Amino acid sequence: MPGNILTDSKGRPVRYIRVSVTDRCNLRCRYCAPSAEFVSLLHSQVLSYEEIERVAAILAPFGVTSVRLTGGEPLVRKHIDRLIGSLARTSGIEDLSLTTNGILLAEHARALKEAGLLRVNVSLDSLKPDRFRWITNSPDKRRKENLGSVLEGLEEAQRVGLAPVKVNVVLMRGLNDDEVGDFVDLTREGNLEVRFIEFMPMGPNGFWNRDRVVPADEVIGRIMKSHPGLEHVGKSKGSGPAVLHRIPGHRGSIGFITPVSSHFCAHCNRVRLTADGKLRTCLFSDTETDLLPLIRGGASDEQILGTIRQALLQKPDGHRISARGALAACARTMSHIGG
Ligand code: SAM
Repeated sequence: MPGNILTDSKGRPVRYIRVSVTDRCNLRCRYCAPSAEFVSLLHSQVLSYEEIERVAAILAPFGVTSVRLTGGEPLVRKHIDRLIGSLARTSGIEDLSLTTNGILLAEHARALKEAGLLRVNVSLDSLKPDRFRWITNSPDKRRKENLGSVLEGLEEAQRVGLAPVKVNVVLMRGLNDDEVGDFVDLTREGNLEVRFIEFMPMGPNGFWNRDRVVPADEVIGRIMKSHPGLEHVGKSKGSGPAVLHRIPGHRGSIGFITPVSSHFCAHCNRVRLTADGKLRTCLFSDTETDLLPLIRGGASDEQILGTIRQALLQKPDGHRISARGALAACARTMSHIGG
């Protein structure tokens, strides 16, 4: 079996698939959502749970041990716990996680955990209610207390034992980078991993601007001014690219993800599957392989696996986002691809 492990053109093993279960979202974060004319996929264009389970079951015997569900917002898809349950029972899948904006997490956390979800990442870019509301640009203007819902979701996720709970913060200069200290404070009592993520050039919604990127080194320097004891403690557990730090006496940890200032392509072990069944071997490459016609056209598991192996041979060595000046690096926004 090891000889059959999925690898790409550079011999990098593929261990991790991120599956977007929907392109719909209950928020419209200004840097993440597509422009106003975006039309959601029809339900018939979206992979069914059975189709997602089949792809996972095809990949698992060949070394893919981690599945992350994302979107859009995965918790707006009905009965997501059913998908989690069957993925958790798939032989070979050892690490099952989910990325969410947290709005619906408090009400779903227990069912997700009971279905077999191991851990959760919650995206949260501001702890200030007005700013949170502006960034997330919720289409539901009646829901004013969204930030409160996310914070409750974080609490509940910890309470039911989804562990670790990670908080993903995309820092954007002039927008939320004055909140680094407040996010660091969350790690004092909370058993959380707060991760600062560099803003990436996804397109095309007009929000990308290179000047907004706050490099991790700068953030570390700022934290050290108030916490000189900040110590580097190595890589994040699992297959992720975060580099972890800790402040002595704090319960949680602080991670830095540096796709722009120091990319980690040499160790990339992941592929992505969009909600409409397109395989992307690199976040920043617009080359996609459409698996849907195969899945729905009677192709055998071997044929689907063969197509995935072929796609992996075209996986780029690395992205060139640092060389692209002010341009966005790909044609789809993150909410479209599944971040
Ligand atoms: N709705 C879920 C959520 O909010 O976590 C999952 C989908 S969302 C596309 C996944 C992640 O992508 C979020 O953490 C979001 O902050 C991140 N993201 C979107 N656009 C980004 C960008 N240009 N640079 C960095 N991260 C981005």
